[in-house]
Amino acid sequence: MIELCSRENCTGCGACYNICPKSAISMLSDEEGFLFPQINSKICVECGRCLRVCPELNRISKHKEAEYPLAVVAKEESIRVKSSSGGMFSLLADWVLSKGGVVFGAAFDDEYTVYHCCIKHQSELDKLRGSKYAQSDTNETYREVKEYLKSGTAVLYTGTPCQIAGLYGYLGGIDVSLLYTVDLVCHGVPSVKAFKIYLRRLSDKLAIKKEEVKKFCFRELEGWGVTPSFQFAEIRRRLTPEENLYMRLFLTSRLHRRSCYNCLYATPQRISDITIADFWGIGQEKAFGHDVSQGCSLVLLNTEKGKDMFEMIRPFVYVEQREWREALRTNTQLHTRSICPKDRDDAFHYLFNKDYTTTYNHFFNTPYIRVRHFVGNILRSLYLR
Ligand SMILES: Cc1cc2nc3c(=O)[nH]c(=O)nc-3n(C[C@H](O)[C@H](O)[C@H](O)COP(=O)(O)OP(=O)(O)OC[C@H]3O[C@@H](n4cnc5c(N)ncnc54)[C@H](O)[C@@H]3O)c2cc1C
Repeated sequence: MIELCSRENCTGCGACYNICPKSAISMLSDEEGFLFPQINSKICVECGRCLRVCPELNRISKHKEAEYPLAVVAKEESIRVKSSSGGMFSLLADWVLSKGGVVFGAAFDDEYTVYHCCIKHQSELDKLRGSKYAQSDTNETYREVKEYLKSGTAVLYTGTPCQIAGLYGYLGGIDVSLLYTVDLVCHGVPSVKAFKIYLRRLSDKLAIKKEEVKKFCFRELEGWGVTPSFQFAEIRRRLTPEENLYMRLFLTSRLHRRSCYNCLYATPQRISDITIADFWGIGQEKAFGHDVSQGCSLVLLNTEKGKDMFEMIRPFVYVEQREWREALRTNTQLHTRSICPKDRDDAFHYLFNKDYTTTYNHFFNTPYIRVRHFVGNILRSLYLR
């Protein structure tokens, strides 16, 4: 009987599912909503391919760390206001599409499920733009990538580092000269189930129908921040701190997949051609020569291919070389994986079983937090005076 990697380490990348020649592996959701491979022993012929492509069992080698991090801002405002940080993804995708290639990335469906899909035209770019802070299902995209590469089509694949590792594991020794990979610096991934239940609880709290939540956007796109906005009926507005329960649980690492606490990729040495992230804190130590109020990307060029790709988009960006120290100071995830909080399981339990206010009060309205805010406000006002 085949034994895949442990549940604590399985990232749900789907490499084993994609490679199985007998379709004996299904990706099934556990009670928290995370996908795990399950082998049907009646169909499995124990060929062992699933074990050979698993990036947890066969580590993908990392590149030497980039010489220096880049701070990058797209020159075009229309790109910046649709992107989470500086618009790097859009520019890279545009370039690959313009030379007849295809782009893979994460999209929402109408039910707010996050899934990986392929786009072939610039007009579809909006689907992939913007961060969706829930784990994306890679589906059969690794197989699709292989087909495109075999047919001589250039492919840009974007995703979390573990998804890129899964792709390389799956592709094995095939010619990847037409493959470009971009990974995100990743804080961790909650499950889509947790996100959908949050949306339902929020709608109940606000007494609006879930269907009326027309557009949920995780990030401030016009500006630069991590406060989500949503539109219901004709009204679009940012969530208040009390409404922002999901992101607050996410940012305190309480909703992560278990494997995220064992992440292999929270290091300056990366596995993709290019790494993109938010350049939080840019300008605090040393000014950046252009406006960053709509976001600034932190970019690592990890391979020669990554450097070549960047040269193609250089005319469309403002770019500066920065110090590693500056990038590492504010982007913790670039050097340290998330730590599992003691009450991680409680977060799932409360979110799934209790009403919105009970969950909110349990995590964010405790006497300790109220005292801390009170003291913080006093100190701030004294300092400002
Ligand atoms: C789950 C998650 C955690 C992150 N954690 C951090 C962090 O700790 N620090 C940091 O600096 N940056 C983090 N990022 C990256 C950051 O939010 C931006 O996505 C990144 O800076 C790219 O911004 P952009 O302006 O270039 O492009 P955008 O257009 O905003 O980004 C879109 C890109 O993100 C990909 N993407 C969106 N959602 C997902 C998803 N669920 N799974 C896989 N790929 C996805 C799309 O495929 C596309 O490539 C995280 C992103 C995600 C999705």
